[in-house]
Amino acid sequence: MVLNAENVRREYGDTVALDGVSLSVEQGSVFALIGPNGAGKTTLIRSLTGTTEYEGEIELLGEPPKRTDTQRIGLLPQSFDPPERLTARELLEYYGGLYDDARSVADVLADVGLGDKADTWYESLSGGQQRRVCVGIALVNDPELLVLDEPTTGIDPAGRRDLWRLLDRLTADGTSVVLTTHYMDEAEYLADRVGLLADGSLVATGPPQQLIEEYGGRSRLEVEVAEDVDAAAAQRAIEPIGTGVDTTGRTLTIQGVTPRAIGDVLDALDHAGVEYDALSWRQPDLESVYLALTETDTDDPPAPDTGERAEVLQSG
Ligand code: ADP
Repeated sequence: MVLNAENVRREYGDTVALDGVSLSVEQGSVFALIGPNGAGKTTLIRSLTGTTEYEGEIELLGEPPKRTDTQRIGLLPQSFDPPERLTARELLEYYGGLYDDARSVADVLADVGLGDKADTWYESLSGGQQRRVCVGIALVNDPELLVLDEPTTGIDPAGRRDLWRLLDRLTADGTSVVLTTHYMDEAEYLADRVGLLADGSLVATGPPQQLIEEYGGRSRLEVEVAEDVDAAAAQRAIEPIGTGVDTTGRTLTIQGVTPRAIGDVLDALDHAGVEYDALSWRQPDLESVYLALTETDTDDPPAPDTGERAEVLQSG
């Protein structure tokens, strides 16, 4: 394990920012922390990297965080404002100079896709390009563990995907990553394990696919029936198929429809002479998990589907 945390607590006055968080990160893996604003993600990142006080046990590369050699860690804080009147190249040279053994600046610029912006002042770069310089700064010391607090906030969709590919390459070479993100597709794509933090507690931890199976609910088919159609009659036409159907206005929501069963639903509608204007089918994803576990009272998460999950919840 490159990182191991047991029962980490942090209070600010009366605010309990972290209420006994335990997690571990394996070498070469990505751990993504997700959760609403104020859940404690930044406080956890800061505890894990030795930049704030905490109670509990943390081992970062085998040492308490404050004793871990900073050469081995790359940290991108959520708010990080490097000097603006330096070029991308000068910034990487400056931060590289803080380490005994820094990487080539040209390589880092290429990694973050800024080879052609090397001589542009930081203040003249777009928000997304600036964030990429900051990711580059976290990479100058060739870290074993990269800790990124919202690395892609403000980066355009193409830039985000470039960064995902960079993280793929780094983890394939054995670099470990802990990141926070508000983008569920990002966590789902990148993470080997996801931790959902709410009110200072990890309410669910596991591989994205496992969390989706346990908390994501069922796939849904939504059918918008034509204007002159009696939606209640359309609902009755589908009910014999045996899935749950709800009607809101002209939209029928049919739960638990497998891709194969979509045809059965449409056949039933055709058979009953029901015209429809639009349909969409959606599989549960990490966003469904997030919404299921954070829209309800997070002290009392919805009943899990499996007994195994219940144990994890009670200990988490
Ligand atoms: P997140 O990163 O998930 O948005 P934070 O870790 O920033 O959450 O905050 C968790 C809780 O701790 C919030 O209630 C926040 O107001 C509080 N908090 C964070 N930092 C401080 C601080 N320096 N002083 C007082 N309260 C803080």
